[in-house]
Amino acid sequence: MMKKIGLLGGMSWESTMHYYRIINETVRDRLGGLHSAECIVYSVEFSPLAHLMCKGSWSEISKILSEAALSLKRAGADFLVICTNTMHLVADEIEGSSSLEILHIAAATAHKIHNQRIKKAALLGTTHTMEGEYYRKPFMNSGIELLVPERRVGENMNRIIFNELCKGVIKSSSKRVLLNAIDRLVQEGAEGVILGCTELPNILTEMDLDVPLFDTTRIHAEAAVDYALS
Ligand code: GLU
Repeated sequence: MMKKIGLLGGMSWESTMHYYRIINETVRDRLGGLHSAECIVYSVEFSPLAHLMCKGSWSEISKILSEAALSLKRAGADFLVICTNTMHLVADEIEGSSSLEILHIAAATAHKIHNQRIKKAALLGTTHTMEGEYYRKPFMNSGIELLVPERRVGENMNRIIFNELCKGVIKSSSKRVLLNAIDRLVQEGAEGVILGCTELPNILTEMDLDVPLFDTTRIHAEAAVDYALS
């Protein structure tokens, strides 16, 4: 019996489409033949949520996402995958109000990095993700130190994520900004790089780097399949 995966997506849909593909490809690879995933996607309207994020209105965000999670539960989802790193800031509230178990993106990523015996990793993502305690906890618990770019660079990265990557815009100048930030963090001792934003794999791949890359979109999607088939 396969568990039904509830995907809370649309943040942005530029990355949710990868979740859907990776989850189905992984089920096909594991089970063969015409096997595919049992999943339900709730794709939200991102614009109002992005505005609420800018204002720091997290209780409003939590309310909207909890409603969406409840819809997934009513539709038969057995557990929840929030298809974005940043919105895990309200993961506990969503889990509490929907009573739907959440497969946490940072926990899945920390587990993967720990298995590769990496102790220090660079984290790239939105400013909330790079600065938020909610994201660091699973890494701290696994003894992994996270290095982030300096504030000015982090803010530029945030702008690239929201103004370009979430709109499907890929610029080589922005890719250079990201690669320069990574170079600096590797010089500071990072042994690997976490793409802690689900749109970052649209602009960076492991071919661009000399150190191991941890793509949270792929790690989270594959962890969802592991759990659905367990
Ligand atoms: N999807 C991105 C993330 O993984 C950023 C957009 C958002 O804040 O939802 O954090």
